[in-house]
Amino acid sequence: MLFKDIVGQDEVKERLIKSVSEDRIAHAQLFVGQPGTGKLALAIAYAQYIACQNRGETDSCGTCPACIKYQKLIHPDLHFVFPVNEAKKSGTSDKSSGKGSDAYIGIWRDRVLKSPYFTEQQWYSELGIENKMGIISTGEASEVIKKISFKSYESTFKVMIIWLPERLHASAANRLLKLIEEPPGKTVFLLVTEDQEKIIGTIQSRTQILKIPPIKREDIAQALVTRYDLSPQKGRDISRIANGDFQTAIGLALDTDTTPNFSFLRDLLRLCYSRNVLGLLSWVDKIVKLNREQQKDFITYSLRIIRESFMLNLGLDDIVYIAGEEEEFSKNFSPFINGGNVVKVYNEFNSAMLHITRNGNAHIIFTDLTMKLVKLINKL
Ligand SMILES: [Zn+2]
Repeated sequence: MLFKDIVGQDEVKERLIKSVSEDRIAHAQLFVGQPGTGKLALAIAYAQYIACQNRGETDSCGTCPACIKYQKLIHPDLHFVFPVNEAKKSGTSDKSSGKGSDAYIGIWRDRVLKSPYFTEQQWYSELGIENKMGIISTGEASEVIKKISFKSYESTFKVMIIWLPERLHASAANRLLKLIEEPPGKTVFLLVTEDQEKIIGTIQSRTQILKIPPIKREDIAQALVTRYDLSPQKGRDISRIANGDFQTAIGLALDTDTTPNFSFLRDLLRLCYSRNVLGLLSWVDKIVKLNREQQKDFITYSLRIIRESFMLNLGLDDIVYIAGEEEEFSKNFSPFINGGNVVKVYNEFNSAMLHITRNGNAHIIFTDLTMKLVKLINKL
């Protein structure tokens, strides 16, 4: 992965490049940032830059033997650890031998090479465990210790990238402590986290922390125009909603009329407005058939539309970013989402999101949501 392929983050790139040119590469670094900021991509590009045999002032060469292996993520001195769920292993692991991350390395490489901007949930979908949480097990920690004890094969440095160290099992984290504090010579640990608070303090204090900020609006807008062929206006609109998160931006850019979210929400609000209880129960039956990732996607979409409807209600048409059928719909429904209920409606969707994320019972969560919406929309 080259730095130039990563959206924005110029200051972070400069800082990483400088650490290599000044020969002060910290042996354990914690990349901290919200989802969609490109943390993982930056860690990989940095590792490649360290390994590149012909590096330039601003990027790896992209053509030396090390770069060629890095671009397929198959360099023997590059190791990955990420959360998996072994319970599901028999059905989804690829043919490669090994335990933990090694058993899924093929799926991982495909996912990262397709686009390094993906969420934890999307990763679990790839593994077919969308309703479960992955972990980094104690067994995995033993594998890490084994891998690090070998000398590097081809590069000066061995690099161990741990994606989402907040998913380290407590005993796995403890096993890695000493290694992270004092790795054998020429080893670099790059920990990539979305939630620094969930990482045990003893690991945090042994790493050099690098904050990855949200991506600048203009960088997202530019990337949408050049990579996704959007008009400059649409690129700018989406970049404002995306809030520094390129993963969300891609989702919005690719959103087409084929998404079931629009019809799901339209049906829900119409049924709530007409207080059609039987209709609502069958709506719930339909949505619980979706997987958890799709349910969360629906809620995220709904939150966005509610916000836009409220803006229309306030007459702020010029800062509304929806178009076409959705816009018509919001115009029709904005009278029902108003200053009196918008916060409550929004909160109900947010609370449903929280419970879905915590693996609550989808049937109960969505039934509860619909009943509350009936009241809020009709101001009972
Ligand atoms: Zn190179």
